[in-house]
Amino acid sequence: MCNNRKVILQKNILISDLLYNSDIFNILNKSLNNEHLGLEDCRELIKSDDIYSLGLVGNTLRNRLFGNTVTFVNNIILNYTNVCITYCKFCAFYRPPKHKESYTLSLNEIINRISVSIENFNTTQILFQGGHNPNLGLEYFEEVFTTIKKKFPHVSIHGLSASEIDMISKVERSSTKEVLSRLKDAGLDSLPGAGAEILDDQVKSIISPLKISSSTWLRIMEEAHNCGLKSSATMMYGTVETDEQIAQHIIKILKLQEKTNGFMAFIPWGFEPNNTQLYSDGIIRYPSGGFNLLKMISISRIMLFGLIDHIQSSWLTNGIGMAQLAIYHGADDFGGTLIGEEVVSATGARSTELTSNKIIDSIKQIDFSAAERDNYYKIIKTY
Ligand code: SF4
Repeated sequence: MCNNRKVILQKNILISDLLYNSDIFNILNKSLNNEHLGLEDCRELIKSDDIYSLGLVGNTLRNRLFGNTVTFVNNIILNYTNVCITYCKFCAFYRPPKHKESYTLSLNEIINRISVSIENFNTTQILFQGGHNPNLGLEYFEEVFTTIKKKFPHVSIHGLSASEIDMISKVERSSTKEVLSRLKDAGLDSLPGAGAEILDDQVKSIISPLKISSSTWLRIMEEAHNCGLKSSATMMYGTVETDEQIAQHIIKILKLQEKTNGFMAFIPWGFEPNNTQLYSDGIIRYPSGGFNLLKMISISRIMLFGLIDHIQSSWLTNGIGMAQLAIYHGADDFGGTLIGEEVVSATGARSTELTSNKIIDSIKQIDFSAAERDNYYKIIKTY
C-alpha cells in the first residue's frame, strides 16, 4: 500500500473515532467510505443536530476533492429587468409592469455596464438574471447575448433561470427546448439554478404560487443539460418547508444529476425575509441563521459527494464570516464577486457585492489558498 493511502486510511480511522458517539455515525461512516447515500440517510442527517460531526465529514470530503484551495469567480450580476408578473412572496426585488420603480435595461446600458466592469474588475462571468417580464421576447435576449459575445468574447454568460426560460417560451409561444437551443446559439453558456427554491409544489403554492412547478423546473434543467448547457442547482431553505421536503429536494437534484451530469454546483442558501410578503404577512419573521447554513452546507456535501463537485458558500445572504465557516463545513467555492447585485440588496441585507481582493483576503484569513476560476470551475489564477 502506498504511503499516501495509508495516511488517508489512518485519517479516516481517526475521524471515525471522533464520530463514534454521533447519532448519525453509520451514515457518516458510509459517506467517508464513498458509499452513495439515499433518501432515508438524508432524512436522518437533517433530523440530527450534530453539526460538529456533519462539519467534520463535510470538511473531510471537501478536502479530498480540493485540498487547500478555495475558488471564486470575478463576476457581475446583470439584473436586466425588475418587471415581473410572478409576484413571489419571498421576493423584495420585483415591480409590477408600469410601476414607477420598474426598469428594463437597454442593450446599450448592458454593454456599458459590462465594459466598465471588465475595465475595473477583470470580470469573466456575467450572471444575467431578472424578473418574468411579459414584454421581453426571445429577440431581446438573442440580441443581448450575441452582442456581448461579439464585444467581449472571453466573457461567459451564466444566465436565465429555468423559470425565466419558461416565461420566454410563453411569450414566444414556443417550446422551452427551442428557446434553450436558440439562446445557446446566441451565446448563452450555462444556467443558474434559481427558481428551484424547494422542489415541492406544496411549498411553492404558499411562497410562489404563480411560478413553475417542481417538475417543470426539473424538466427544463434536463433539457438544458441535454442540449449541452451546464447549470447550477440551488436550494432556498428557511421559509415554510419541512425537513422531509428538504430531503426530497436534495434527492431530486441527486437523481437528475445521476441521469444528466449537468449540474456543476449546488448552492444552498437561507431565505432573507426583510421587505418580503412572507414577512409582512407574519409567516416568516427571521432568517434561518448560521447554524442551519452550516448544517445545509455539510449535508449537501455529504449527500452529493461523487456527483456534484462544487458546493458554494453563501456569503451573499449570510455574510463573509459565515462563508468562511462554510468552507470548514464542506463548501469549496466562495461564489462570485457579484458586482451590481440588486435582488438580495432589495431585502436590505448586508453589502451584496465584493471585490476580488476582499474575497482573496477572506480565503487567506482562514489559511486556504485562493484561486480564481472561470464559469466552468476551471482555475485560471492562483493567489
Ligand atoms: S423571485 Fe423572480 S420570479 Fe419571483 S417575483 Fe422575484 S423576480 Fe419575479
